[in-house]
Amino acid sequence: MRIYADNAATTEMSQTALDTMITCLKDVYGNPSSLYERGQKAKEILEQAREDVAGVIGAAPREITFTSGGSEADNQAIRSAALAGKKKGKTHIISTAFEHHAVLHTLKQLEKEGFEVTLLDVHEDGLVRPGEVEAAIREDTALMSVMFANNEIGTIQPVREIGAICRAHGVIFHTDAVQAVGHIPVDVVKDNIDMLSASAHKFHGPKGTGFLYCRKGVPLSNLIEGGAQERGRRAGTENVPAIVSMAAALKEAEANREKNAEILIRQRDRLIQGLQEIPHAALNGDAKKRLPGNVNFCFEGIEGESLLLLLDDKGIEASSGSACTSGSLDPSHVLLAIGRVHDVAHGSLRLTLGEDITDEETEYIIQSVKEIVAHLRSFSPVWRDLQSGKLSFIL
Ligand SMILES: *Cc1c(COP(=O)(O)O)cnc(C)c1O
Repeated sequence: MRIYADNAATTEMSQTALDTMITCLKDVYGNPSSLYERGQKAKEILEQAREDVAGVIGAAPREITFTSGGSEADNQAIRSAALAGKKKGKTHIISTAFEHHAVLHTLKQLEKEGFEVTLLDVHEDGLVRPGEVEAAIREDTALMSVMFANNEIGTIQPVREIGAICRAHGVIFHTDAVQAVGHIPVDVVKDNIDMLSASAHKFHGPKGTGFLYCRKGVPLSNLIEGGAQERGRRAGTENVPAIVSMAAALKEAEANREKNAEILIRQRDRLIQGLQEIPHAALNGDAKKRLPGNVNFCFEGIEGESLLLLLDDKGIEASSGSACTSGSLDPSHVLLAIGRVHDVAHGSLRLTLGEDITDEETEYIIQSVKEIVAHLRSFSPVWRDLQSGKLSFIL
């Protein structure tokens, strides 16, 4: 048995997305900027994709810019808002300590360029408090960037409230919605969002494609100079096959969203219940305000890396946190942000389920994790010290 339980890292392309992409690669190779028929055909399907993507999140087609993925969309949104702020003498940016590195590293760079960044604390439940968001806003705040749902612990943030606060204070609100779009309801109008990032490969579309929503009237500058594609906001010949495939994947994900969420929530909650039976283990993040397919645990006295290797031997593909920190010795910045101490954060496991998960597979995962955690603890010096009372348990 092989079970893929790392859907927050990437997802398998859906058959529809794959078929759409292959057909487009074969049949529609024109350049959308060309004026003859072959080019205009490409332009036509590109604009249809823009309309489809916009429709899913409640945006207008002109508010969508296609990018190479979530990272580029995050970079462009944040840099644009920072630049627009600077022109008005606003150089303060607010974000949170558990954002994706595409956000955090862009902010680090902006700090070197003279901006001041406030990173809000995230509480133990993995949620940002709107009251603290409001308290952090200053006269010179240009931008607030808070992710829609966290990629490691899956917690869903009070985006609508945060957006309303930003709107009332004249602060641009960006949300990295890469984990949310196609999985939970997202409506840029109702949710008071000015800028939003999304990525196709997180909702069964192709890698290397995503989009940035930028509300009409909010200034958007470009990262890449060149031609006039994407109304001058993103130069370079459009990746038409991937964009059209992304739109197909998103429409499909949206059509099946409620049905899939129901399946995932049921299996997620079974997994949480099963893993909670392991002594000295704790779920990371709120049990209910989390993505339908996300389970994230810490187990005291073990190393997450060893757990992952042994799970792989049993055919279970999972991760300890984000793909970006895998292989490094640093514990997840997300788990540290919610207050897990280093030793505990090291023993983490993230399971992000696919919609095709079965009862049998969920049971198999629970049994496998139980066995492996017990096995690893049986020869862990830390566990021995915890047992003897030399160290005290945290969980
Ligand atoms: C995957 C991910 C990204 C990066 O998206 P890419 O398309 O891989 O560049 C950004 N933010 C979050 C929350 C993600 O999960």
